[in-house]
Amino acid sequence: MTNDYRFEFRPYQRRFLRSLTTNHGNWNIREGIILRLTDESGKLGWGEIAPISWFGSETLEQALDFCRQLPDKITDEIIFSIPDKLPACQFGFESAWESEFFSMPYDASSLKSAKPPTRLAPPCPMPHAQFYSGLLPAGEAALNQWETLWQQGYRTFKWKIGVYTIADELKIFESLIHTLPAFTKLRLDANGGLSYEEANLWLWTCDNLKANGELPLEIEFIEQPLPVEQFQQMLELSTSYKTAIALDESVATLGQLAACHQQGWRGIFVIKPGIVGSPSRLRKFCHQHKIDTVFSSVFETAIARQAALKLAAELYQNNRAIGFGIDHFFEQEETWFQSLWNDL
Ligand code: MG
Repeated sequence: MTNDYRFEFRPYQRRFLRSLTTNHGNWNIREGIILRLTDESGKLGWGEIAPISWFGSETLEQALDFCRQLPDKITDEIIFSIPDKLPACQFGFESAWESEFFSMPYDASSLKSAKPPTRLAPPCPMPHAQFYSGLLPAGEAALNQWETLWQQGYRTFKWKIGVYTIADELKIFESLIHTLPAFTKLRLDANGGLSYEEANLWLWTCDNLKANGELPLEIEFIEQPLPVEQFQQMLELSTSYKTAIALDESVATLGQLAACHQQGWRGIFVIKPGIVGSPSRLRKFCHQHKIDTVFSSVFETAIARQAALKLAAELYQNNRAIGFGIDHFFEQEETWFQSLWNDL
């Protein structure tokens, strides 16, 4: 590749088929930016900026402002000096820079032929649902929806907690563990929505069921039980119970991830490549510290997913399922994606 790229970008919106409910509230529309780099020989690189500001990344508006102030031609220097306060932009630009689509033919006389790939096959290392964690809806709806995912091959599920009262959720949990087939793995994701007492109760419940031989499946971990500010309490909980804890919101960006590691976190780290920041620096960190990771989606399109899965395949150290089992939250990508770039 040469050192100079033509830069273009398109904002996009995708509506969730069903509203995504977490402790942070309801999420109905995924908004992001698709970007395209063209080198001097006409080869293309695709990237995607998919921020989640309530999770710790920049806002969509900040990402758009950054794209708008860039010149039409950009260089390696620009791509590799995006500030840390724009982690989703760092990911989008760097992954476009290293994307594998540069070999696509480019016909300058017909820009319509230069469409992004709409059906990207998952990369070879993890092609099947059994390697993915399927996302269940919060509350009782999980009891009806696991089966479809099971039939698609999912064997690890994530269920959102901290959405309804703990009394209700513990009741549903009791049904869920007896409804899901044996040998399933279940992750409980609180999105920072529990109180200290509630987190203790969840961890105690899981430990206790296991100790009494009453757990027909494996509780793989409880994810982000407490808010980001309560790191010390989560550190303490992680040594007080056998049930594992994973940090997610606490380690949204590379800076936060390094800080938690430096402060002694040796539990699980959920990495969302789409918002964590620079892929090259993430690689460096993971190679240096052999951390226990779960790679996870930010409800991105196929463009960012391809780059994120590539990173996951490269960096994961264990047999944990990756959190990309979210296709059932969107319609097929083909139609909207082509319309996005047709007007170019
Ligand atoms: Mg989470």
